[in-house]
Amino acid sequence: ELADLFSVSRTTAINAYRKLEQMGLVWTKVGSGTYVAQTLNVESSSEVPWPQLFTAYPQNPLASILRDLVSTPATGTISLAAGMADPALYPLDIFTELFNRNIGTANLADFGHIPTEGYTPLRKAIAAMLSEKGISTSTENILTLSGSQQGLYLLSKVLLEPGDYVVMEGPTFIGAMQVFQAAGARVLSLPCSGKLSLELLEDFIIRYRPKLFYSIPTYQNPTGRVMPAHERQDLINLAKRHRLVIVEDDPYSDLYYDQKPPQSLKAIDTYGGVVYLGTFSKILFPGLRTGYLAGPPVLINRLALEKQYIDLHSNNIAQWLVTMFLNEGKLVPHLETVRREYKKRRNAMAKALQRLCANDLEFTVPEGGCYFWCKLKQAGTSQRLLHEAAKNRISFVPGEAFYTMPTQDKELRLCFTAHNEAVLLESVQRLAKSLTQITKK
Ligand code: PMP
Repeated sequence: ELADLFSVSRTTAINAYRKLEQMGLVWTKVGSGTYVAQTLNVESSSEVPWPQLFTAYPQNPLASILRDLVSTPATGTISLAAGMADPALYPLDIFTELFNRNIGTANLADFGHIPTEGYTPLRKAIAAMLSEKGISTSTENILTLSGSQQGLYLLSKVLLEPGDYVVMEGPTFIGAMQVFQAAGARVLSLPCSGKLSLELLEDFIIRYRPKLFYSIPTYQNPTGRVMPAHERQDLINLAKRHRLVIVEDDPYSDLYYDQKPPQSLKAIDTYGGVVYLGTFSKILFPGLRTGYLAGPPVLINRLALEKQYIDLHSNNIAQWLVTMFLNEGKLVPHLETVRREYKKRRNAMAKALQRLCANDLEFTVPEGGCYFWCKLKQAGTSQRLLHEAAKNRISFVPGEAFYTMPTQDKELRLCFTAHNEAVLLESVQRLAKSLTQITKK
C-alpha cells in the first residue's frame, strides 16, 4: 500500500518499514499489519520511559516475526505458519515412563549444577548418535544447548563483530538471519531456489571475506530443498580452499519420507571448518529446549564461556530424560512412527494442493522436513493472500519474511507436519477459497 501510494518499489517500501521498526516508531505483527508505536509522553508521565533506556540497534530486536509465528492462533484458525512437530505425536508417554522408573534411583548430583558444556552422559550419547550418521565426534566435541537457536546466538557472539559479512542461503531461516543481523553482521544472500551457485559463493568469499556461511543443506527451511551429494562435495572443496567456516544447521535430516538424504557436510568435512547444529525440537518436542553443537574443542570451550554468562548450563532434567531416551533405544522407533505419519500428511497435502490450488500455485513436493514452498502463479501477492486467508481462518508465512532483501512477493511457506490429514485438507480448501478471492478482484 505504501509502495502504491508513493509510487516507489516494494523493496523501498519494505526497507522503509524496517528502518521505522528499528527506530521503534512502528511495530509489525505477521498476518495482521504494521502499527504505529505508542509514543510516550514523558512530561505527563511518571512512569519509567523504558523504550528510551534500551540499548541502540543492533542490540534491539528487529522484529518479533518468530514470536508471532509460534504464538497461539486465533480460535478456529488453522495455522500452517509455525514449523512444528504435531503435539499429538510428542512421545510424552515414554518420557513419563522413563521419569517414573528412574527418578527414585537418580544420582542427585545430576540435579545440581553441571558443567556448562552439558550433561556428560548426554554429550556422550549425542556423539554416539552422530557417529552413526558418519560424523565422527567424541564427548569433547559436543556442547549441549537450550535449543539450537542458542547455538546460533553463541556463534554470533563468538565469531561476529559489527560490519562482518556472513553468507546465507536466500531464502533462509528467520531466527538465524535475525541473530546475525542483531550482531551487526551484513548478510550476503546466496539464492537457493535452484542450483546453488558456488561461483557466486567464491565471488563473495574473495570480495568480502565473510566470517561464515550458514547453510541448511537438508530439507531447507523454508524451501524444503536438499543439497545434492555432488554439490555438498564441491562446497566442501571450495570452503576448504578458502578456510571458510560453514555453520551447518540440521534440524530436519531425520525427517525423510522417501530415500535417506545425502551425508551431512560435517560428515565429509576434511578441514575442520564445519560447525554442526542439531536439535530435538522437530523430532521430539520443542519445549524440551534441548539442542547441541558439534565442533572442535577449542570452539566448544570458547562457546561454553559465552554460554556460562547466559544460563550456566542447560536444563538438567531435560538432558537427563533425553539421555535415557537415546540410551534405551527409544529414538529409532519414534522416528519410524513420525516419518510414517508425516509422509502420509505430506502426500495428502500434495494431493490436495494439486487438486484444489494447482491453477494458482506452483510447488514442489518436499522429500522431507516440514514445508511446502509455494509460489503464486497469477496476479496478487502473498501478503494479499494472507489477508484473505485470515478471513477464511487459515495462516501461513509469506515468503518475504525469509529474505534480508525481499526481491519478490509471491512466495509462501506452508507447514504440513503440525496437523492431521483431515485438518490439512480443510486448510487447503480454505487456501483455495482465498486464492480464488485474490485472483477474482
Ligand atoms: N534452525 C532451523 C533451521 C529451524 O527451523 C529452527 C526451528 N524453527 C531452529 C534452528 C531452532 O530450533 P530450536 O528449537 O532447537 O532452537
